[in-house]
Amino acid sequence: MILLRCPYCREMRSEAELTWGGEAGIMRPADPAIASDTEWTEYLFMRTNTKGWLQEQWCCSAGCGQWFKVERHTVSHQIRQILRFDEAFSDVTIAQEGAA
Ligand SMILES: [Zn+2]
Repeated sequence: MILLRCPYCREMRSEAELTWGGEAGIMRPADPAIASDTEWTEYLFMRTNTKGWLQEQWCCSAGCGQWFKVERHTVSHQIRQILRFDEAFSDVTIAQEGAA
């Protein structure tokens, strides 16, 4: 079971009280009117499907309703970072993973 502490309301929530929002950092095309089919396909469908550390977004849906960011290992469910949505992930942990 995944347990995450919401960085907004500070309550510990189980995954049944949260909504998984997929991979974090997926950027909508800046100007949708001129985006190509390839840009829309990348935005809508293409994900890394990582087995390992993944930066993702979750919603505190049974609590305060805020979206926040989590760095989670997709196999062990170990959590390295939980951040407010306006905070940036630390790249230090990614560099450590690559060096291992
Ligand atoms: Zn919350």
